[in-house]
Amino acid sequence: MKMLAADYAARLPGLDTHSLMHGLDGVQLTFMPMGDRDGAYDPEHRVILVNSRVRPERQRFTLAHEISHALLLGDDDLLSDLHDAYEGDRLEQVIETLCNVGAAALLIPRTLIDEMLSRFGPTGRALGELSRRADISASTALYTLAEHTTEPVLYAVCAVARLPMDEGDDEGERPAKALTVRVSSAAPGVKYSLRPGTPIPDDHPVAAALDTRLPITQDSYVPFRSGRRMPAQVDAFPDRHRVMASFLLPVRAEAAPV
Ligand SMILES: [Zn+2]
Repeated sequence: MKMLAADYAARLPGLDTHSLMHGLDGVQLTFMPMGDRDGAYDPEHRVILVNSRVRPERQRFTLAHEISHALLLGDDDLLSDLHDAYEGDRLEQVIETLCNVGAAALLIPRTLIDEMLSRFGPTGRALGELSRRADISASTALYTLAEHTTEPVLYAVCAVARLPMDEGDDEGERPAKALTVRVSSAAPGVKYSLRPGTPIPDDHPVAAALDTRLPITQDSYVPFRSGRRMPAQVDAFPDRHRVMASFLLPVRAEAAPV
């Protein structure tokens, strides 16, 4: 799927909405209100529908997702492999996941990922810049960047969220807010993960970056939900109301060259 999408993208004149449609001969693109659906591809009428009521960034991702559906339907080998391996709901799920993978591969040129990693290293800053330059959501950028990172790094997008109220809290009381992990992903081979909702302590560099709006790089720790603090080099890159963070984990002592 990734190769299908990347090959398709390589033949396009650009990656804006108009250019994205260029490779699909005879397929029409229609924007219309679609309730809570993001989009759809109708192979019979050769139409891609995109919900006109959602954010432009999301429309673009949806368009790339629907194009992936069209590419998949045009690839008999891949399609028959999928039908042999899965059926029913599971097949649907696998196809949806594949089309998200295809969308990311369409919208994020491999050369841009390599450029961000060589300029900024596997950092929160690389994550923020990739999201901005590819014009994709921070979570899409995060998964893709993590996948291409060779160092032992955890990435996270952190933002302030309301904490769920405990039962028995005063009804009149306003829910507390806290800086938490929204989405996180690790480089291949890293066995640790940061669950969404994990709170960031006030004295952590990620919290300081949000307060000061300044990027911070320093030796600190990964604030696991269990309370465990694992030493890590933290790069915290503020982006409006969020912080793009990376945690470079120490190479395990026994694996280090003597
Ligand atoms: Zn879909």
